[in-house]
Amino acid sequence: MYEKSVLRISHIEESTDLLGPYNRFVIWTHGCCFDCEGCLATNTKVGSYQETNIFELADTIARSTCEGITVSGGEPFLQATALLKMIRTVKARKDIGVIVYSGFTIEEIKFSKEKSDLLNEIDVLIDGKYIKELDDGRAYVGSSNQVIHYLTSRYRIVGEEYYSQKKRRAEIKLTPSQAVLIGVPSKNVLKAWQDIKEKSGGMKNDF
Ligand code: SF4
Repeated sequence: MYEKSVLRISHIEESTDLLGPYNRFVIWTHGCCFDCEGCLATNTKVGSYQETNIFELADTIARSTCEGITVSGGEPFLQATALLKMIRTVKARKDIGVIVYSGFTIEEIKFSKEKSDLLNEIDVLIDGKYIKELDDGRAYVGSSNQVIHYLTSRYRIVGEEYYSQKKRRAEIKLTPSQAVLIGVPSKNVLKAWQDIKEKSGGMKNDF
C-alpha cells in the first residue's frame, strides 16, 4: 500500500516547453531496467532520489498552470501503478495531457496489464531504448528507432508541428549543486554540459 502511494523521483521541473508542446510539468522517475550505451540519464539510475507522496504531487500539478505533464526517466513504467494513481488523481481535478518517454516498446507495454492501464492514460508515448548508433540528431528523440505514438487526438495537430522541428532544443539549468540537462541535447549542448560536470567534479544530471 505504501509503495503504491509513493513515487521515486530523480528530478522535477515545474515549467518547460522542451519536452512536449505547451507548458509542461516534467517528472524524471528514478530507476531503470535498461543499460543503453551512451545513456545521458545515468543519474536517474544510480543517483539520489526522493520518495514523493503521489497525492501531494498530484495536488501540486493540479494547482500549477501547466497544460500537461511529461514523464521521463529512468523508466517510468517500472512505477506504473503509482504513476497511474497519481495521473488519475490529477485528472479528477484538472484536464491535463500526458506524454511519456519509455525504453519499452509499445508492444512490450501492452503485454502487461499493469503497464497497459497506465498506457490508457497517455496521450503521446515516445517508445524504445536509446541506441547510440541510431542517434541521428532528430529533435525530441534520442535515436531514430524511437517512435512518437499519438494515442489520443489531444496533441495530434500541435504535435505534428512541434515534433517536426529540425533542431534539438535543450537547456542546462545551473544551481549551486546541480547542472540539470532538460530536453534532448544537440552535440554542442551535450558537450557544454559534460564540460561543466567534468570541471565541477561531477554534478547531478537529468535527461
Ligand atoms: S532507457 Fe533511458 S534511462 Fe534507461 S538506460 Fe536507456 S537511455 Fe538510460
